Amino acid sequence: MSMGALESAAAFLPDRLDLTSLRDAARTCTACPLHLTGTQTVFGEGPARARVVLVGEQPGDREDTEGRPFVGPAGRLLDEALEEAGIDRATAYVTNVVKHFKWQARGKRRIHQKPNAGEIAACRPWLDAELEALRPQALVCLGATAAQALLGRQFRVTRDRGRLLESALAPLTLATVHPSSILRAPDEEARRRERACSSRTSESPRQR
Ligand code: SF4
Repeated sequence: MSMGALESAAAFLPDRLDLTSLRDAARTCTACPLHLTGTQTVFGEGPARARVVLVGEQPGDREDTEGRPFVGPAGRLLDEALEEAGIDRATAYVTNVVKHFKWQARGKRRIHQKPNAGEIAACRPWLDAELEALRPQALVCLGATAAQALLGRQFRVTRDRGRLLESALAPLTLATVHPSSILRAPDEEARRRERACSSRTSESPRQR
């Protein structure tokens, strides 16, 4: 497979920066080589007036096939966590820092590959434009890739998860583990512990 050159998605942004125009324009994005591995662009989804935005790493196998974010097993877990937190998924906007699925074949399976810094940077204009269009009240980064892309490379989800931060991105910003990491926990007890930790937030916002 030819892997192509890294450009920036900025070259693909439409004139109108509303969510509908952005989603349409992102379908044709070829700014990084991941358009060759993913079936389609998986753009964010949710109401334009959403006050809560959740950002993950990239679409997974199921999301790649369906063209929608967080619809696979991790998405189901996210739905349950949101329900426990009293948030209706339909009122939140969910997206990823990278919009195409990066994977490697292992037999018949497509195994998730972490996007690299160049791919994350190339895709960033889409996420920035989504956040600019939405201007959310609360931003939740799911997992280390999203947290480090948005909050800085020094951010450690294991250390800082659940802490309320003040940032330029949203009045309330926090990061927690990605639901797929809970699915990878070795047993039910470990999964229960992880879920309890990820739904907990500390009270006082820290300046960032
Ligand atoms: S991953 Fe992002 S930058 Fe790369 S081709 Fe897909 S939409 Fe464009």
